[in-house]
Amino acid sequence: MPGRTFIHNPGPTNIPDSVLEAFRRPSVDFGSADFANFVNELWIDLEQLFDAHRVMAYPAVGHGAWEATLVNLVEPGQKLLLPETGLFSIRWADMARKLGFDPQPIAVDYRRAPDPALIHAALVADTDHELVGVFVAQTETSTGTLADIAAIREALDSAGHPGLLVVDAIAGFATDPVPLNELGIDVVLASSQKGLMMPPGMSFSALSEKAVQHNKTVGTPRYFWSWDERIDPQWVYQRFCGTPPIQHLFALRAAVDLLLDEGGLDAVCARHRRFADAVRVCVETWGEGFAVNATHRDEQASAVTCVLADGIVDQGVEISDLIALARDRYNVSIAPAMLDMADRAFRIGHLGDLNEPMLIGALGGLECTFRDLEVGFTSGLAAATAVLVSERERFCDQQS
Ligand SMILES: *Cc1c(COP(=O)(O)O)cnc(C)c1O
Repeated sequence: MPGRTFIHNPGPTNIPDSVLEAFRRPSVDFGSADFANFVNELWIDLEQLFDAHRVMAYPAVGHGAWEATLVNLVEPGQKLLLPETGLFSIRWADMARKLGFDPQPIAVDYRRAPDPALIHAALVADTDHELVGVFVAQTETSTGTLADIAAIREALDSAGHPGLLVVDAIAGFATDPVPLNELGIDVVLASSQKGLMMPPGMSFSALSEKAVQHNKTVGTPRYFWSWDERIDPQWVYQRFCGTPPIQHLFALRAAVDLLLDEGGLDAVCARHRRFADAVRVCVETWGEGFAVNATHRDEQASAVTCVLADGIVDQGVEISDLIALARDRYNVSIAPAMLDMADRAFRIGHLGDLNEPMLIGALGGLECTFRDLEVGFTSGLAAATAVLVSERERFCDQQS
């Protein structure tokens, strides 16, 4: 088919040409001073982007960062508070349980962010400070909700609880702000194939000084995932507990440069917020049969929108047919919904290497699909474009 496929899955995302080209560079001697300098300089930028004391990296998908973070911070049998915001949190809790830890769930309405008051209450009730900390997904990719990390920090502080604040920002990093030091976070998890615009295969735990200190007291068996050698590596090999993923690091350099060139994470996150607003307004305009799953605007993630589409289902259309037609006929790739929403919702990713016409193109492709399926709706394209140009004055100010 002519033209490009519009990738609107909430990961993997579009890979910019400069990032793709980085993978074509030949191997280098990773023991050379040049390569060590290259990695050290990259790490200075990474630590700044995460606003972190140290950044651990693994040649692994996000699940690797999940496991690394757990085995470096929690001992067998220890409790951790883990709000069940949706599928990803549930999987993380399942992993923690299978590794021998004791995650304590906090129930969350899938249309809402986790309630800081419930977290506060659980922390206050933990008078012996048995909980290692709060482990929470900032962006819950399965539902499109966004947790209020500052409020969860405040819950720990006002409860006088010494636990760690560990934030899964695998979909949230470079889409909604998670400055580690500024927000009093101890660990921020990220992965390459979402806001970082890279292929899957590299993930991160950014650490506070407190997390580094705490890690030294944790006796859980670990080797590859261990932070011990990675924290102050004498040579590049130790940073990765093995051969450095050389081409991934070239690609990461290119991706970090793109984020910095756009004006840093504040500018990148502001663009994502605008795109999320445009998608939300478009969905609301589609009409009664459609709704954004996250009911409160300040709890809507900038990375992904989960659309409840009872209107389509009521008209006898299967969500799986909608997704297949959008992809195979109109070149727009969106994702199925998860959990109990699987049969009546879909998800639109709007993160990474995207601009306004790409977003409008994707929404237009979806509207073509609705027409093809003879689904009743009102076009939301005009409303979405209105949101996207509302920043014109700010843009002109910046240029002048
Ligand atoms: C994508 C995602 C993960 C899992 O990442 P993988 O790279 O698929 O292992 C975990 N948490 C969140 C919030 C995610 O969006």
